Amino acid sequence: MRILVVEDEEKLARYLKKGLEESSYVVDLALNGTDGLHQATHESYDLIILDIMLPEYDGLSILKAARIAGINTPVIFLTAKDSTKDKVEGLNIGADDYIVKPFSFHELLARVRVCLRRGSHKVALELKVADLTLDSLTRKVFRGKKKIEVSPTEFSLLEYLMNHAGQVVTRTMISEHVWDSNFESFSNVVDVHIAKLRNKIDKGFNIKLIHTKRGAGYVIEEQD
Ligand code: CA
Repeated sequence: MRILVVEDEEKLARYLKKGLEESSYVVDLALNGTDGLHQATHESYDLIILDIMLPEYDGLSILKAARIAGINTPVIFLTAKDSTKDKVEGLNIGADDYIVKPFSFHELLARVRVCLRRGSHKVALELKVADLTLDSLTRKVFRGKKKIEVSPTEFSLLEYLMNHAGQVVTRTMISEHVWDSNFESFSNVVDVHIAKLRNKIDKGFNIKLIHTKRGAGYVIEEQD
């Protein structure tokens, strides 16, 4: 299991690396936001431990960039600030857990184990809803035997919906995961892309998979 630790307090970073290596994890360190962002989005990890307050890019921006890039690696935030706002924001953009400094290594290790256990179920490379399949590795989408051509944005949108199959996702959730922070959440961009996706995924098939939940958002599932 390979872990990325992004932490600018070098002493703490080295302490975490040493402790995790003693527990037989492979550990990479990034000591600033720039390196953290690069490694989180260009290397493959089973878990990222991410400090929030970092020089250059903060932890929230790194997580956001990673999720936008389609990286679903579990993330544990380290934060000195026990502020509700940071927690809510972090969890909204897809952090898996939080640990408030100062913490004991023992506590961190317990969280790491839980996260990795959960993570191993979550990193399904092939997502499937009824006869619709999406392969995260080859980036191919099939409905039954029919190959469906989708744009990169449609792919991200579909991947997000399929990762939450059976759950209603709101337009805000979608926009935060599929578009960058310049996205205007009051615009109808989400609806336009859903409509395009529907045209490709559901048109001509008896069983419709993408459903609108009026006033709430969208859900992908096989309904009877
Ligand atoms: Ca820090």
